[in-house]
Amino acid sequence: MNDEINREIMFHEDAVVEIRSADDSNEKQIEDIKYFAENGFDIIIVSPNEAAALTHIIKKVYKKGMPVIIFDRNIIGDTYTARIGVDDEGIGRSAAHYALHMLGTGAKAIEIFGLKGSTPAEGRHDGFVAEFKKGKGELLASVPANWNKEDAIPVVDSLLKIYPDVDLIYAHNDRMAIGASEVASKMGRDDIKIIGIDAAPNIGIQAVADSVIDATFLYPTEGHRLIRTALAILKKEPYQREVQLPVSSAVDLTNADILLLQNETLKEETGKMKQLKARIDDYWAKHSSQTSLFYASIVIIILLFGVAFLLLRAYWQHSRHQKTLMFQNKLLEEERDKQKSLNSQLQDAIQSKLMFFTNVSHDLRTPLTLISEPVSQLVSADNLTHQQHTLMKIADKNIKILHRLINQILDFRKYENGKLKLKLIEIDFSQTINEWLESFYSIARKRNIKLTLQAKESTPVKIAVDVEKIERVFFNLVSNAFKYTPDNGSITVFYESDDNKLTFAVADTGEGISERDLGNIFDRFYQVDRVHPNGSGLGLSLAKAFVELHEGTISVESALNKGSVFTVVLPVKHVSETISELKADITEPDVERELAPVSSDIVFDKEKQLILIIDDNKDVQTLVGELLKDEYNIITAVNGREGIRMAAKYIPDLVICDVMMPVMDGLECCKRMKTEVSTSHIPVLMLTACSMDEQRVQGYDSGADGYVAKPFNGIVLKSRCANLIANRKRIRDLWQDNVLVTPTINRDMKSQVEGKNIDNEFYNRFLEIFKKEMGNSDLTVDAIASDMGLERSQFYRKIKALTNYSPVELIRCLRLKHARNLLTSTEKTISEIAYETGFSTPAYFTKCYRDNYGETPSETRSKLTN
Ligand code: ADP
Repeated sequence: MNDEINREIMFHEDAVVEIRSADDSNEKQIEDIKYFAENGFDIIIVSPNEAAALTHIIKKVYKKGMPVIIFDRNIIGDTYTARIGVDDEGIGRSAAHYALHMLGTGAKAIEIFGLKGSTPAEGRHDGFVAEFKKGKGELLASVPANWNKEDAIPVVDSLLKIYPDVDLIYAHNDRMAIGASEVASKMGRDDIKIIGIDAAPNIGIQAVADSVIDATFLYPTEGHRLIRTALAILKKEPYQREVQLPVSSAVDLTNADILLLQNETLKEETGKMKQLKARIDDYWAKHSSQTSLFYASIVIIILLFGVAFLLLRAYWQHSRHQKTLMFQNKLLEEERDKQKSLNSQLQDAIQSKLMFFTNVSHDLRTPLTLISEPVSQLVSADNLTHQQHTLMKIADKNIKILHRLINQILDFRKYENGKLKLKLIEIDFSQTINEWLESFYSIARKRNIKLTLQAKESTPVKIAVDVEKIERVFFNLVSNAFKYTPDNGSITVFYESDDNKLTFAVADTGEGISERDLGNIFDRFYQVDRVHPNGSGLGLSLAKAFVELHEGTISVESALNKGSVFTVVLPVKHVSETISELKADITEPDVERELAPVSSDIVFDKEKQLILIIDDNKDVQTLVGELLKDEYNIITAVNGREGIRMAAKYIPDLVICDVMMPVMDGLECCKRMKTEVSTSHIPVLMLTACSMDEQRVQGYDSGADGYVAKPFNGIVLKSRCANLIANRKRIRDLWQDNVLVTPTINRDMKSQVEGKNIDNEFYNRFLEIFKKEMGNSDLTVDAIASDMGLERSQFYRKIKALTNYSPVELIRCLRLKHARNLLTSTEKTISEIAYETGFSTPAYFTKCYRDNYGETPSETRSKLTN
């Protein structure tokens, strides 16, 4: 049975079985059942040792929900899931039948009983007795022997002594039968036939084959059926609850050998199967480890592919990158070569330009001197008008600037050609520097700039220098300090010396120089603000040249918005030549001329029109102002931003605006004025040093109304101004006429001023607001102005500038015009019309109407009906 079970379980991968033997002990079996119940087993198959003793525990386990299959033997009641029983009675009957067949009727038998209370024993007994009696057989005795041989031997021994005429011993199992056989043969009673039950191959069948017993009856076990039923129960498949296994025929000498052989074969096959199973298990284990290996390999291969792909891609990218780099490199090289050739071209160009400058400068010097002299005489003439004097001063100043510039250029060329020579003279530097600085105190006072000289020692500082050149250096440094330091700042000049060197420095609290520009300011023509140049950019490079001629150094330290310090270090040398009296080359008037703008006083005349001049150059402001001040009132601004502010505040009749200015340039300024409602109508005249067409286009694009190129002719400028103002007036008159002539407010009046520009939009918006509020006699100019987003004064000037009417006049005009229209085109009464057009009373309406049209409203009406 155990073999059968083990064989069957091999076919069910998902199940395992554990077999425990009770060894004929109730206690052990109870313990075993408890063990199975408590250790996670799913089902118990039990062959109860004794029905009564095991019923309780089986019932308990079953009630707890664990399926139980009873087989072979029985319990009391039916507290089990399924029962596979053996027809013990049938076996008993077969045994009796076989015995009768062997011995004939009337045979005498003794029975070796299994165990009292054992259900198979009972069955085997009952079946045997019933059948045996039928064949007139006689059962002499029935004695239990506990299913085993040892107990059977004494029982048989005594029974044979008591019943010597026995023909048959019927034992309930083979072991007891073998015991009986041993006793019988000992007693020399080989004639007694012995029958057992069970037919276990190596016990019962072997005993039959060995002729130890005469027959045995196959006890059907069918272990496979137990396993299948158990699995059906667990898998909730249909199964038969009660099964009675059929009885098989007897095993005797005729078939014992075959059965044994069969059994051997079976055993062998089972062994092979087990081996196969073990091998399969082994293969499975290998298979699953190989499967894992397979998947792992696939993953590794995929990863390898991935890595290979990435590497390839990186390689591709790298080579592509390399290619682009090479390409770029080539481009760069080409670019560099181009730059190189451009550079040399540029150098050539610069050289020829410089040469040209030099030549021109030479040529300019004579006429300039010829202009300079008469002009300086004229400046000091006492019979000039104030305006003439101012204009002369501007001329004089700018001639001097030109002069200096030309000298600078010539000097610089000389220096570059190595032709600039030093004329060393022994001086006392402390005295000299004091004198040089003298010229600057007046301008310093005027601009409230604190100018101080600091010296470490008061003793004379003897040094040989080219006085004229060092004076130019000094003048350049100090005048730069003045140029770039705002009013109320401070400028400090400092010097010290020892036996070897003289150091002097000019420090200011001005706008400073950015780090980017700091490295370049000693380059010739370099200017920090190229857009709004304030000089030639030659001063510092020439200063450097002069200092280097002295074998000295010049350096600068600066921070934006903090100030700059220029330091000159000269080696101390001595010569015998001295000068008796030092005379500064650059005098106070020179300084004044250069650093103080020429100013003119402008008087304000209510009758004249207002012009705003926007220019960062004070002299240009003055010049233009001087030219125009007789005919116009003049106000000025120094840059675009200030210009816009002034324009919005004063609403001038014309704006003259320089193109290149710091903070906000003229183009931007013009554009903004033209897009601002309050200033959009003001004509703008652009003033520029660039006369290129492109620049003009830019100017017109930004909305400029006219263009005058520098240098300009005063008469042309004047006529351009007059022209623009007259144009403006014409447009205004047109508007005014429109306002008066247009018959209806709704459609026609609007179409008269239709157009894209900002003034039309402004006026249309005004009309819109007015139309809505026309009937409101409390309507104020303030309310309309704030509706239009303007201040009252701006609104006033704008309306006035556009229509020549004040807002109040304009509103009245519009009301009357609409009223007149209503009078002529509708049947409404005069008072209805008066209220509808916003007059507080009909009487007031009539008065205004008459004032405006020279007739009363009723007269207009009656004229019409006539
Ligand atoms: P320029 O002869 O036109 O005055 P410079 O060679 O003297 O030119 O100066 C070159 C530039 O260096 C100037 O355009 C100016 O921007 C800058 N610079 C010179 N001195 C000062 C200073 N003290 N503070 C600020 N900027 C200065």
